Amino acid sequence: MAVVELKGVSKQFGSDGAKAVDNFNLVTRDGEFVVLVGPSGCGKTTTMRMIAGLEQNSEGEIRIAGKDVSGMAPKDRDIAMVFQSYALYPHMTVYGNMAFSLKLKKYTKAEIDKQVTEAARVLDIEHLLDRKPRALSGGQRQRVALGRAIVRQPQVFLMDEPLSNLDAKLRVDMRAEIVKLHRKLGVTTFYVTHDQTEAMTMGQRIAVLRDGLIQQVDTPNNLYDHPANMFVAGFIGTPSMNFLKASVDAGEDRMVGEGFSLAPTPAHRSALDKAGGEVWVGVRPEHLHLQAETPAADDNVVRGRVEVVEPLGAVTLIQVRVGQVKLTAQIEPHQRIAMGDDVALRCASEQLYLFDTV
Ligand code: ADP
Ligand code: MG
Repeated sequence: MAVVELKGVSKQFGSDGAKAVDNFNLVTRDGEFVVLVGPSGCGKTTTMRMIAGLEQNSEGEIRIAGKDVSGMAPKDRDIAMVFQSYALYPHMTVYGNMAFSLKLKKYTKAEIDKQVTEAARVLDIEHLLDRKPRALSGGQRQRVALGRAIVRQPQVFLMDEPLSNLDAKLRVDMRAEIVKLHRKLGVTTFYVTHDQTEAMTMGQRIAVLRDGLIQQVDTPNNLYDHPANMFVAGFIGTPSMNFLKASVDAGEDRMVGEGFSLAPTPAHRSALDKAGGEVWVGVRPEHLHLQAETPAADDNVVRGRVEVVEPLGAVTLIQVRVGQVKLTAQIEPHQRIAMGDDVALRCASEQLYLFDTV
């Protein structure tokens, strides 16, 4: 276990061009599970490779357990990696694959046996130790890859999209397995994914990245409740937050646009003052409520025409055309709605998010 400190870490490939990672600052707690999430190309893998020592950072400082690791070879950093392409050695058994790094480290046979057996027990793959990788399912191979990392008893785990080769159902299962494993071992872990659901369900803290820049580092709940900007607001939460461009009607104290008129709360005041004449209003699909009756004109409503109805079982998603934009609303399955219906969606002022338009 160890604290990992990233201070002003940047990476620029070549002398020109943008930074792949730009001034990355994050200090983990000892034993923390930190998720890096963001769209493809935002710098997640580069960050991991810098922590691992596979890539030299152009600027900044990386410390593992208090030690500055710049210039330290990957093998000396006491970390273990599980990456997306978890190439197992095909000619070796599961046991051989898991034992390999320990053999290199000149562990005794008895020590190796103890470590491998223990890791296999934790991962529930004891019965597979004699098999070759080709005789394993995708999920089992992933466990072996995790096993290879665990046996080394590193101070830090780095996992870069380790589940992306698995099918959806297995991914959900393995997600829970990895969280359980982390709870059991308590090893500081960096986990990379582009999938916000994976991030939200696994991370104790999540760093949201965009174009090499950290947008926000926070707990899942805080990211959802208090997104720092429009990017985080739109990225975290599924289905995604809706955004409406509104004119601020200061006299009436409303935020208005084609098809909607919304009241701000006192807490919105500073954002409104900063915004000047125009503001982005964000509202989550789960906070738009279908009105059975025609609401009064000054109610907090968005009006539009239903273009798509998607019954998902537990909930139904509808897409509603409001002026120039399309909103998603989450409604109850029993609320009978058809394509072409005109609807009014109500939302509480407290559940509106304001972002400036620049
Ligand atoms: P992610 O893992 O979030 O998808 P990466 O860290 O792989 O993103 O890439 C971040 C950016 O750095 C991308 O623009 C990518 O093209 C660039 N990049 C990554 N590796 C290299 C490299 N070895 N040489 C040049 N550019 C690279
Ligand atoms: Mg990547």
